[in-house]
Parts: sequence; structure tokens; C-alpha cells
Amino acid sequence: MSLAEQLLRASADGLIAFDRQCRYVSWNAAMERISGIPASVALGRVAFELFPYLKDTGEEMCFLRALDGESSISRDRPYFVRESGRQGTFDAHYLPWRDDAGTIVGGIAVVRETTAQKLAEQQLRETESRFRNMADVAPVLLWMSGTDSLCTFFNQTWLDFTGRSLEQEWGVGWAEGVHFEDFQRCVDTYEAAFNKRQIFEMEYRLRRHDGLFRWILDRGTPRYTPDGSFAGYIGSCVDITERKELEALLRRAVATRDEFLSIASHELRTPLSALRLQADGMMRLVEKGSPPPLERSERAWHMVQGGVERLEQLVTNLLDVSKMGTSGPTLNLESVDLAQIARDVCERFGEQLDSSGCVMSVRAPAHVFGRWDRMRLEQIMTNLLTNAIKYGRGKPIEVGLEADATTARLHVRDHGIGIAPEDHARIFDRFERAVSSSSYGGLGLGLWIAKQIVEALGGEITLVSTRGEGATFSVLLPKGSS
Ligand code: ADP
Repeated sequence: MSLAEQLLRASADGLIAFDRQCRYVSWNAAMERISGIPASVALGRVAFELFPYLKDTGEEMCFLRALDGESSISRDRPYFVRESGRQGTFDAHYLPWRDDAGTIVGGIAVVRETTAQKLAEQQLRETESRFRNMADVAPVLLWMSGTDSLCTFFNQTWLDFTGRSLEQEWGVGWAEGVHFEDFQRCVDTYEAAFNKRQIFEMEYRLRRHDGLFRWILDRGTPRYTPDGSFAGYIGSCVDITERKELEALLRRAVATRDEFLSIASHELRTPLSALRLQADGMMRLVEKGSPPPLERSERAWHMVQGGVERLEQLVTNLLDVSKMGTSGPTLNLESVDLAQIARDVCERFGEQLDSSGCVMSVRAPAHVFGRWDRMRLEQIMTNLLTNAIKYGRGKPIEVGLEADATTARLHVRDHGIGIAPEDHARIFDRFERAVSSSSYGGLGLGLWIAKQIVEALGGEITLVSTRGEGATFSVLLPKGSS
């Protein structure tokens, strides 16, 4: 076998030659494999008769050009051989075939089958588009970078979030949306992990399409090709702004609780110390064998009573916080006379008024009946009067009660330190105070409790006050059907 014949046989590519009538004069083994047509059938046959698809796909022109002395290339031509059932795609390179004198006696072609390659490409495209589809509908923001650390992919969720195009985010464009305070930390974390091919996690603020910065948790993982070589990173991000806000809220709540506990223990200790002092003083007198004079005993008794009342009020408030916090105040509704309650409660404050130098006036009609809870109304009044005395030492206090057919309105007005407008709303919240605990004792619960009760009774509590000019708390209560 000549060398030329051996080469023809060994070639992985199909090799053909055709004469000026486009009849095959050479048909190698690779052509037999590709087409499924043996040389014995192909040789001598006109190409377009044996393979009609050559006309349909325009391949015929390449044959004719070769006969005209021109080379041509066709790519990814589809083929279908009816006789053998073979089909697929091929690339072919056509050249004129010249004899020794240089006359064109036909054409030759090198045919390379691309079916498997095309299939692989198509599968890759399908996998790729499946990935993109999944990535685009994923609720997380996804990105991908290459081996040069530049980002080359962002899913639709990311683009919708930032409101920017892929071109804008491409490479390092995405970093434009990172908050400048977080930017350097972000770059450092990414680069350090990237160089070591490590998984990383970072939190940063990213500008959303509406211009707001949102906290993002970004987890990056190195990715590798099937042969194990590093291909870059893939990252997924979730918006954790709400979680962060909740965390901050919880931290504040814990700090408030701790502060509350320390204030509460201080508040409880103060009347306890006073009680102990009185008890010790009395005990010393008894030990000396001299019973205390009546006047001294009375004074001590009043002080003990005041301390006990203070403790009682503190403990009641503390118990109320835990109960009301979950289910609101319990109400025992009955027909009660608010005017009588107001007078009774004010009278009970006689001692405290004396020692604080406050004078209290009460203006109320003889009776104001409504369907309320007696104990709870006393609690509201007690809390408001305690504050009026505490924050208005030495100044007069006016209590007023008015009523019409459906509503009662109670005012407690003092002329004390007053409350700045920015604090008006928050002092009705639990543990909120607008004074320092070193200047004024208190748990920050009295107004919160009063508000809970008033609202449970269908009413409302309001405040009018300016700093330094006293405060007026008004409680509006619907009478209810009595
Ligand atoms: P507490 O008095 O124990 O701190 P409250 O809930 O009764 O708690 O009141 C909350 C805050 O509202 C007080 O700490 C104080 O800053 C302010 N406040 C309440 N009543 C008055 C008042 N009559 N005058 C001035 N400030 C007041």
C-alpha cells in the first residue's frame, strides 16, 4: 500500500476527491465511518445525487467553487444520510484539485465531524441556561467571579435589588453600591479569602434600587472545574437588615432590663432602709428601758406607714408590668363614683403633700358615675399624683374632674419641672424616663401602667407640658353603660 493510501486510511478526518462532474473518485475510511456509506457505493457517484442534502444546505456551492479554483470552508453543516440513517454536523475545507500541469481536474475536501462537539456545546448551553434560570428565580442575590477575582455574573435577583445593569455591576462595578464605611473591610475580606481560596462571610451595606442601604450577609465559596482547577468564586447574599434591627432592639431591651433591675433594687432598698432605721431607733429606746414618747412613736409610725405604702406601690407596679405586658390589665367593672374616688385618693396623699410642701386643690362635682374598675382608677390617680408631688415639690397641684353624659375627664396639673416636647410620647412607654435616676427615683412604669388601664377602659391619656413650666395629664374616660 502506498504511503498516500496509508495516510488516507489512517486519517481521522474524512478525505474526498471528486472530478469535474462532481463524481467521487476518492473516499477514505473516515468518510465511510462518518456517512455510513462504503467506498464501493460512493465511488463513481455524483455527490448531489448520492447526498441530496448537499444541495439543500448550499454545500453544492463549495464543490463548484473548488472546480472554479477557489478554496472555501463550511462550518457546522447538518447532514442526513437516508441510506445509513447517519446524521449530525461537519466542518469541511474545499480546495481545487490540479494535475501536474496545473489544470483543475476536480476538487478535494477535508471533512471533520463536529456532531459530538456540537452536542457537548448544546448540553453546556442547556446546563448554563438551566443554571441561569434557577439563579434568576432564586430569592438570594448571587454573584460569580473568575480566576482574576473580577465578577462576571450577577443573577436577576441581584440586578433587581440594585436596580443596575449587568454591565454596570461587571468586574468591580458592584463595589460602587457598597457603603463607603464598609468598602475597605469588604475588599480586604474578599482578597484575603480569594488568595487563600477560602470560604468567607462578610456583612456590609449595599445600596438598594431605592437608594436605601440594606445590610447584606454575603457568603463566598471557591469554585473548581471538574478537573480540580480553581475557577473563581460564587457568592450568595441575603438581606439581613430586619434581623440586624431586631438584634439591636433585643440588645437595647436587654440593656434596658439590666438598667431597670438596678434601678428597681435601688428603689426597693430606699424605703426598706428607712424602715430599718425607724425599727432600729425604736429598738434602741426599748433596750435602754425608756419607752419612746407618744409623739415620737406617732412620727415613727407615720414614717413606717409611708415606707410600707411606697413599697406596696412599687411591688404592685412591678407585678403589673409582668401581667399587663402579656395580657393587658384585668378589669373588674362595676358602677363606681369617680368623684368620690378622686377625693379619697387625694386625701390619702395628705402626709406626702405635707412633707413635700405641695398644696393640692380638688375641683370635682358631687358624683361622676361610670362603669369602671375602682382599684384601677385609684391606681391611675395614685400614679399621676405621685408624679405631680415628685416632680413638683413645693408647688401647688390642681386636680379637676368634669363630666358630661358620656365622658369623664380628669386632670392632674402640677407646676414642677415639666417635660420637653420630644419626651412626651416616649414617657408613656415601659421603663422610659425623662429624668436622671440620680436626681429622681422611679422605675419608669407609672405612666405606662396608667396608659394601659386608661386604654383598656376605652379612654385616652394626654399630656400638655413645657420644660420648667409644670405638666397637665388629662385622662378621658367613656362612662360605659352603667
Ligand atoms: P417614674 O416617675 O417612676 O420615672 P413614670 O412612668 O411615672 O415613671 O414617668 C415616666 C417619666 O415621665 C418620669 O421619669 C419623668 O421623667 C416624666 N414625668 C412623669 N410625670 C411627670 C411630671 N408630673 N412632671 C415632670 N415629669 C414627669
